[in-house]
Amino acid sequence: MPDRIKTLDNNTISQIAAGEVIEGPSAVLKEMCENSLDAGALSISVVIEAGGKNLVLVTDDGIGMSGDDLKAAFQRHSTSKIRTAEELSTVVTLGFRGEALASITAVARVEAMSREQGVQSGHKIYMEDGNDVKFSPVGCAEGTTVAVKDLFYNTPARKEFLKEDRREAAKCMNAFRSLALSKPNVEWKYNHKGKQKIHLPPVTLKERIADLLGEERGEGLREVDFVDGDYRIYGYVGDKEHTGRNREYQYLFLNGRRINDLRLGNSIFFAYGGMVDKGDYPYYFLFLEMEPSLVDVNVHPAKLEVRFRMEKEVNDFVKRAVHRALGFDSIMSASPERAEKRPPIISKPPGGKKMTLKEYRVLVQPPSTNAPERDELMTLPLKEGEAEVDAHRFIPDKMFQLQGKYVVAQVKGGMVIIDQHAAHERVLYEKALASMTAGKAPAQKLVFPGFIEFPHGESDAFEEMLPWLEKMGFAVKPAGPRVYQVETVPAGLKVPDEIRLLHGMLEYYRENEVKHEDNTERIAAAYACKAAIKSGDSLTPEEMVGLIEALFRTGTSFVCPHGRPTYIKIDLKELDRRFRRS
Ligand code: ADP
Ligand code: MG
Repeated sequence: MPDRIKTLDNNTISQIAAGEVIEGPSAVLKEMCENSLDAGALSISVVIEAGGKNLVLVTDDGIGMSGDDLKAAFQRHSTSKIRTAEELSTVVTLGFRGEALASITAVARVEAMSREQGVQSGHKIYMEDGNDVKFSPVGCAEGTTVAVKDLFYNTPARKEFLKEDRREAAKCMNAFRSLALSKPNVEWKYNHKGKQKIHLPPVTLKERIADLLGEERGEGLREVDFVDGDYRIYGYVGDKEHTGRNREYQYLFLNGRRINDLRLGNSIFFAYGGMVDKGDYPYYFLFLEMEPSLVDVNVHPAKLEVRFRMEKEVNDFVKRAVHRALGFDSIMSASPERAEKRPPIISKPPGGKKMTLKEYRVLVQPPSTNAPERDELMTLPLKEGEAEVDAHRFIPDKMFQLQGKYVVAQVKGGMVIIDQHAAHERVLYEKALASMTAGKAPAQKLVFPGFIEFPHGESDAFEEMLPWLEKMGFAVKPAGPRVYQVETVPAGLKVPDEIRLLHGMLEYYRENEVKHEDNTERIAAAYACKAAIKSGDSLTPEEMVGLIEALFRTGTSFVCPHGRPTYIKIDLKELDRRFRRS
């Protein structure tokens, strides 16, 4: 086989994001394991001593190197992975700069052994101070072993910067974890001499998560598998019960390489729709895949950060995928696919009267045209007897309010218990979002315009909210220093005191800056939270029907904007099982 490793030309070198990547033992471990993966290894073994300061040894069963390649591998800018700068945009390997081994060799004593697949024997090389001191043929197994000893022995100043063994070992373990998670089909072994031994057989991703991070982290995970256009994402996300105190269990891989992208991290967080509190870090193990040409991985020395060609598109895609995996699609239907195919319109509402499309829109969505004003809670006429409805519909006369805070209703195949506040909040939230996106929502004039006044310093935040409030149907005019006149409110709004509502919204707005992705979301949540019916409010049958109908037609009916469930469904089967009626 001709020698594979070539030194890059200067032009290509100059286009590579240069950078010293070796800042400690964990970086050595990472670079060497990535080389093993690039060499197609299916079994990788790591041994470290003294937190990796004395030794990091990586053995693999990959394609190996010829004698000449073994020598070339340690030269700066020598790589088998790209030849020209153009190829930078199509890299599929983890490495491509041809720098890692050279950088390591400059600051440690390195011994390596390699035998190409299908070749009789291998070679051995010993390097010190960046030069090969010994080179010889050797009998060894197919694959490659690289031992890095006495890191920074010749640069005492850098050695000073290393932390105590325990800390360096923890960093090595972190690097190992990311690698082992990124390739569950590879067998991994880890041995911190005298301290810790791990053996991970090849398994599925889910099993690898449990093997590596503990059974309890494997629980409550929801599968993600989503393809759209140029992107695919798969893996697992934790539900809101499975969060950590820091980013420790947040793994995002792009084309097999772990990345640390703040914006994508935020998109994932936002996908929880406020379901997790600030300071809680949901677990995730996500693998994002796309054509290499759609992303530039050559912007960060350790390739932790990347630049997407279509940044917003990628962020939206990831957010949607996670959102969906979290079951934000109604649980009234078994799967998201079914939810989409569900007949969109109730053809026969209870009462037998056919609802017009316009009425329906008013009921489920904020109208974008000037549709008649109505209260979204007072919508459907109620009639004796069961409505002839589709399979997911509830049966309106089999319904009651429980303890002033829940609505219990019979549905096909069982029952639901609805949290009236959370449910109404969800309905109003969706409605507000839609009207702000659509432009101008229908408004209702207040018979007596209200006045709202703010103490010093508070009206600024209110001013910020004004454009959004206007889109929602609030007409608010300045009427003096820090005083505003409220002329209209969103059509259908039913609260005892509109001014109090606005004060409440402002308070929410000021207190929840970071939780929401943007102002639209933040103001929608403020509105929903403050305008929703409260626990303790008694509801008429019509109001209950309206609430349930509207809820099940919101896109994410399962949770309220704060992540509390809006309803629980109990299947008849479940009841039968509990009463042991088989
Ligand atoms: P890069 O990975 O960016 O190409 P490195 O300095 O990490 O640069 O490695 C240089 C070259 O050495 C690689 O391109 C590869 O051809 C070869 N190499 C390194 N480690 C291995 C290994 N474990 N198995 C086979 N080849 C390897
Ligand atoms: Mg490499």
